[in-house]
Amino acid sequence: MSVDVGAMPSGAPSSLLERVAALRREIAETACAAGRDPSSVALLGVTKAQPRSAVVAAIGAGLRDIGENYVQEARAKYAELPPVQKHFIGHVQTNKARAIVELFDVVQSVDRLEAGRALGQAQRALGKRIRTLVQLNVSLAERFGVAPSDAPALAARLREEGLEVDGVMAIGPLTADRSAIRDAFRRAAQAFGEVGGSTLSLGMSGDWREAVACGSTMVRLGTVIFGVRG
Ligand SMILES: *Cc1c(COP(=O)(O)O)cnc(C)c1O
Repeated sequence: MSVDVGAMPSGAPSSLLERVAALRREIAETACAAGRDPSSVALLGVTKAQPRSAVVAAIGAGLRDIGENYVQEARAKYAELPPVQKHFIGHVQTNKARAIVELFDVVQSVDRLEAGRALGQAQRALGKRIRTLVQLNVSLAERFGVAPSDAPALAARLREEGLEVDGVMAIGPLTADRSAIRDAFRRAAQAFGEVGGSTLSLGMSGDWREAVACGSTMVRLGTVIFGVRG
């Protein structure tokens, strides 16, 4: 199926199916070059600002993890999808906690106790358990996220609230300085070791190679799969 959404960088394969296949190969190669098992890096397709048809096409291309930043947008796109893991990667507003637990399997962006409490309450009310990640702040430009040094304490409090904390997520710094990106990702990887769990969610379209080299177990890719957001 060829769904062409957004403009792609020149040289990129023209169909979504081919782009996903090419990315999977490159991710595997990058993992191997870093001495890692290529199957240890999952690919999360970020479909924000893309139509439902893009979500369906991504699942058709074999993606098993998809992500959205906004509850409203997800609600419209997620009706009657095949079974995949749905990840919430946007800011958690406490008044949206119930809708988030209803719609998603994983919340990657828990950065304060208040948000965790609201998710915990929603889980109990709905009788549904989700997985969560602690969002770290490793970039001066980012508004959200907890300092890596505060992440283990937050994770412990969230677990007391009944949440399953399965690792950490971070957004890399917006810079062309590759070594600054690697430094930030190394700080995130260290905090991951202290928090525990199975998921180190690091890397987006512009920095996933550094993320895989630094131990990412999940890269979150939007633009390089779906094209530039309109
Ligand atoms: C938008 C977004 C992504 C995907 O970004 P691309 O650069 O398009 O790959 C990944 N993670 C988060 C948290 C996002 O908001």
